Amino acid sequence: MKILIVEDDDRFANVLERAIGEAGWTSERARDGLEGEHLMRTGNGDAVVLDLGLPGRGGLDLLRRLRAKGSTLPVLVLTARDGVDDRIAGLDAGADDYVVKPCALSEVLARLRALLRRGGGTGPVLRYADVELDPARGVATRAGQRLPLRPREYALLEFFLRHPEDVLTRDRIYEHVWEHDFDGLSNVLEVYVRYLRTKLEVLGSRLIHTVRGRGYALRREEEPS
Ligand code: CA
Repeated sequence: MKILIVEDDDRFANVLERAIGEAGWTSERARDGLEGEHLMRTGNGDAVVLDLGLPGRGGLDLLRRLRAKGSTLPVLVLTARDGVDDRIAGLDAGADDYVVKPCALSEVLARLRALLRRGGGTGPVLRYADVELDPARGVATRAGQRLPLRPREYALLEFFLRHPEDVLTRDRIYEHVWEHDFDGLSNVLEVYVRYLRTKLEVLGSRLIHTVRGRGYALRREEEPS
């Protein structure tokens, strides 16, 4: 499990990173809003610990932008603001949970564990265009018709749906969908993209586009080159 930390307070972030390491997870940290936005999009995290008061771009803004893109990445908001209004704003913006500082690290870790449990295999239905995938039921459909996907095709589609319209590099897809179980020189990714496209395109137009020299993107139309 990899936890992304977006926090400008060095002391707190260091203690949190150490605790996350002791819990057996890895972490990567951003120190301001702009770095944070980049990290949340590209950091391959399983969950985010997000501070609200950040230089550059505020945490609430980051969260809204992440959710507006359709991301379901679990986010634990961590903040010194303890007003009820702030808490409601955080949850409305798409936070999955909320901890007010100062807080016990053990509480942060317990809440992260709960979020991660809710992640893998459950969570809201993912949708893009007319494609839907229900992680809780393990079912994917296009235009209401069930897609007959093998496990790796399903995992690949789920990864695309969790990052709609992002250009996903081959490395990033391999890291997530194949973990370490692949031969980096093989064309297994191309083969699986082809399988997945074939099954999707029986029911509609192309959604998984090749982005030359970069990777693949799930989007409605080819971007004009
Ligand atoms: Ca702060």
